[in-house]
Amino acid sequence: MEKEIKLMSACLLGVKCRYDSKGKPCEKAIELFKEGSVIPVCPEQLSGFSTPRTSIEIQEDGRVLDNKGKDVTENLEKGAKETLKIAEMVGAKEFIAKSKSPSCGFGKTYDGTFSGTLVERNGFVSDYLNKNGIKIITEEEL
Ligand code: SF4
Repeated sequence: MEKEIKLMSACLLGVKCRYDSKGKPCEKAIELFKEGSVIPVCPEQLSGFSTPRTSIEIQEDGRVLDNKGKDVTENLEKGAKETLKIAEMVGAKEFIAKSKSPSCGFGKTYDGTFSGTLVERNGFVSDYLNKNGIKIITEEEL
C-alpha cells in the first residue's frame, strides 16, 4: 500500500527557515521524514518573507503584525494559499506542524503582544489549512 503523503514544517527538520535563521529540529519529525512521503514546507517563506525577518504574531482581531507594527496579513494569506496548493497537488491530508508558531501552530500561539504569552489560537496558515480539510498535528503530538 502506498504511504500517505504529508506536509511538514521545514524547521522541524532543522532547516534554517525561521525568522531568526534557525531551525527547530525534532527527532520524531526527522525519523518520519526519513521514512519518506513527507514534504517540507515553510509557509512564512511561501508568504514572500526573507530569512532572517522580523517576528510576527496574530492579533486578537485576526490580523498579523510584525514586531514593528507592520500589517503583514496579506503576506500570510498568500503563504496559506500556496501551502494549500502544494497539499492539494500531492494529495496531502495532514500537516505535521511546528507548535506555537504564528503561522504553523495549532491550538495555541502567542497573543500578539510579543511578550511570550500563549493563548488558545491557531496559527494563521494551519487554521486556513484545517478549514480546507487538512488535519493538523503538531510535533508535540508525534
Ligand atoms: Fe517553521 Fe512554519 Fe515558521 Fe516556517 S513558518 S519557520 S515552517 S514554524
